[in-house]
Amino acid sequence: MNKADKIYDITEKLLHEVNGEGVISENIIRLVSELRIHQSKLEMQNKELQKAQLSLNKSRRKYIDLYNFSPVGLFTLNKELIITDVNVEGILLLGRGKSKIINRSFVNFITENFQIKFSRCMKRTLETMENQNCEIEFIKGDSTYLHANIKSRIIIDENGDFNGFQIAVNDISVDRVVEALKDSEKRLKDAVEELEIFNAELQNYSFITSHDLQEPLRTMASYAGLLKKRYKGRIDDDADDFIEYIVGGASRMQRMIIGLHNYSNVGNKTADLEYFSAEDALNTSLSNLMYKIKKYHAHVTNDPLPVIYGNKEDITTVFQNLIDNALKFRKKVFSPRIHISVQQDDDEYVFSVKDNGIGIEEQYYGKIFEIFKRLHPIGKYQGVGIGLAIAKRIINIYGGYIWVESKVGVGSTFYFTVKITEKQ
Ligand code: ADP
Repeated sequence: MNKADKIYDITEKLLHEVNGEGVISENIIRLVSELRIHQSKLEMQNKELQKAQLSLNKSRRKYIDLYNFSPVGLFTLNKELIITDVNVEGILLLGRGKSKIINRSFVNFITENFQIKFSRCMKRTLETMENQNCEIEFIKGDSTYLHANIKSRIIIDENGDFNGFQIAVNDISVDRVVEALKDSEKRLKDAVEELEIFNAELQNYSFITSHDLQEPLRTMASYAGLLKKRYKGRIDDDADDFIEYIVGGASRMQRMIIGLHNYSNVGNKTADLEYFSAEDALNTSLSNLMYKIKKYHAHVTNDPLPVIYGNKEDITTVFQNLIDNALKFRKKVFSPRIHISVQQDDDEYVFSVKDNGIGIEEQYYGKIFEIFKRLHPIGKYQGVGIGLAIAKRIINIYGGYIWVESKVGVGSTFYFTVKITEKQ
């Protein structure tokens, strides 16, 4: 018997006693039974309420779990944009302790440049009563920046009144890096395309000018030669010198223009590729240089060289230009010793041409590969400064590198790489 039933029993007994004869007024009995019905209804309602309370607690726990373990940062703001709650991800994103976030204005964590944008976003959220998205930059606890996409919505209380904002913060720093990478990749591709067009135009231009310039230069050179032949010693010493300068200048310019013409022609043979013995290419270059080799009593040796893929004529030119320089920049007291060797390094061959010549100062290691760059006064050594530029252009076209290591007074070693391409 529960407490309520006991009370009813006691009430009934009391009523019996009141009537004195144990007769209970019918009205009272009805009242008591109504009370009982009412009581059991209340009990049922109570049970329903308890059930509802239980499920409310359950959903509340679920909500807290969702809030705390959401993969996006969640911030609850009051009407004045003061943070009243933040989830675990929000704390991590801002890189600050919870106590340094709660009760602070949300705007404090936004970089100055983005504060107006954020205010506009909040205004729109309030005016439209719809969710709004915008990109914002936050300043984190360690003074680094966080690029985030925020989604804002308004909070309505139980009376239907506006009560603040909920803000979801999504880190898009990685997206931005990927985007920036994609962007720079595209710009690089565009630049390469532009460069290729520019290069082709330049090649065309230098080919035409060098070709067209040769004709008037030939005329100048031959008339300067005629002047020298006819008038040398017939005017005065100065006139002889002037004529000599003109003849020298014209022939030098002729060699430069031919060099430029050859330079602009490099790359024309890229369609003509084959497997060939690098040793054959070397031998061709040596027989082209045979006169000088003999003249300077040069001792040229080589390791066995492999079969490579490319244009044989181009590689012959590279060997020839390097060996020609080794002969040219020899030390006067020794006969030149030149050795050509090769080493395999992963997917490429590294060829080297080593001499015992005058050497090159380290500060000029890069300069000497530039067009028309020379380290000695005109007249000391023959040449116009195009041999290494041509060699570099050839090697680069086939995806290789060329460089020099040297010691002044001891000698130089020029290296160049050629990609190893297996025969199918
Ligand atoms: P050129 O030989 O016509 O001067 P290059 O382009 O072949 O032009 O060489 C550029 C410069 O590099 C040379 O003028 C010379 O100063 C330097 N150089 C090239 N090869 C050697 C070498 N083997 N030893 C010393 N100096 C060299």
